[in-house]
Amino acid sequence: MNYQGYDQYIDHHCSDSIDELSILCAQPSISATQEGLEECALLLGEMLKKRGFLVEIAPTSGAPVVFAECKGKNTGKTLLFYNHYDVQPAEPLALWHTPPFTPTLIDGKLYGRGVDDDKGNIVSRLFALDAILDQDGELPCNVKFIIEGEEEVSSPYLHEFIEQYQDRIQADACVWECGGVDDDGVPMQALGLRGILYLELSVKTANRDIHSGIGGSIFQNAAWRLTWALSAVKGVDEKVNIPGFYDDILSPTDEDLFYLKKMADPSEKYKALFDLKDYLHYVESGVEDIRVAAVFRPTCTIDGINSGYQGPGSKTIIPAEASAKLEFRLVPDMDPEKIMISLRKYLDELGFTDVEIKELGSGKAAKTPVSDPFVQMVVDSTKELYGSAMQIVPMIGGSGPNAIIQDALKLPIVMAGVGYDGAQVHSPNENLVIDLYLKGTKHIVRILKEFSEMD
Ligand SMILES: [Zn+2]
Repeated sequence: MNYQGYDQYIDHHCSDSIDELSILCAQPSISATQEGLEECALLLGEMLKKRGFLVEIAPTSGAPVVFAECKGKNTGKTLLFYNHYDVQPAEPLALWHTPPFTPTLIDGKLYGRGVDDDKGNIVSRLFALDAILDQDGELPCNVKFIIEGEEEVSSPYLHEFIEQYQDRIQADACVWECGGVDDDGVPMQALGLRGILYLELSVKTANRDIHSGIGGSIFQNAAWRLTWALSAVKGVDEKVNIPGFYDDILSPTDEDLFYLKKMADPSEKYKALFDLKDYLHYVESGVEDIRVAAVFRPTCTIDGINSGYQGPGSKTIIPAEASAKLEFRLVPDMDPEKIMISLRKYLDELGFTDVEIKELGSGKAAKTPVSDPFVQMVVDSTKELYGSAMQIVPMIGGSGPNAIIQDALKLPIVMAGVGYDGAQVHSPNENLVIDLYLKGTKHIVRILKEFSEMD
């Protein structure tokens, strides 16, 4: 297909699109503090309506979700874009070189909160639609947008929207909120995210800390109770002992292994970066490849422990309370709810009924197979734009709400976007490289056009 007309449109209208992006970024929409969420949703709704979309600002128990749909030429195919209009807080403000909510263009980069994550990606997608509407007069297929307002605080109410709009959000494929290039300018295609179960474990054995000389031989100690419970959960062999923990795990496919092993081995890089002495035994002994273990092994991580006296010198007490943050990263097809129930039962059976478990967040893993024809099309369609096909990363270690969408809609999810390693997302001086903005926009045009003509 010839993309010259679309590409020229994008090159010629770049400053208009950057102006629109700047308007969207000038509206703070901070989910952590709830500042400006409603206003931003309405502003975005107007931007979508201008392109002929039918827009609904759908309320949830938290921030509203912007849902938009527009029919296209091939009415039998629907592409869904998932994005979020909320941003991270701008603090620490003193470290910004430009005001975070006054987008500023300097030397080919736009600086401001949200210029990449995720407003840059949203407006880039609108810009791609503009190019197609200008050239063709209509969209090539049906297009839907789900733009939520609480991605940066773990999407606590997205499932409400998904359940309520189940019928209307049906689509054949989905482009996720982000994407971009690596250090060498090679576009990356990450196809899976791990799930998570985040817990707080706590024990209380008395109404206050007690003199250890009085009670050391006769009172329960909260710190011991908690550490015994924790050591029952995972042993020094790195094995999680919760019954059934490993039962539902799907092994990586041959395809997954093939693509993971094509990636650079990070062993030396991490050792130098973090001053590590060695890796866990199965990596150190070569039993498992570090690239595979890093993303296809579930974790059980103590993120923090709190109890007793930790100040200078000594204080002779029996701590009355102890708590720990405990996090599990999950791989397909582990079920956080099932693990939570098994953990409770397991601790009870061992006599740790006094250890309370509070869930602070959870979600399943989700992954799209490399061999999906939609993935192949998206990966190949960067060739003339970036000089190479996308590099496939079958799974990354982090987590996100993709499982909510994939479970409900059963569709392939790909990444495509305007980011790069230096974008400083979530940090001061978040920035967007205009050249990558144009490339990312042109990639979206190709995805839309080629998707609408796939069998
Ligand atoms: Zn983010």
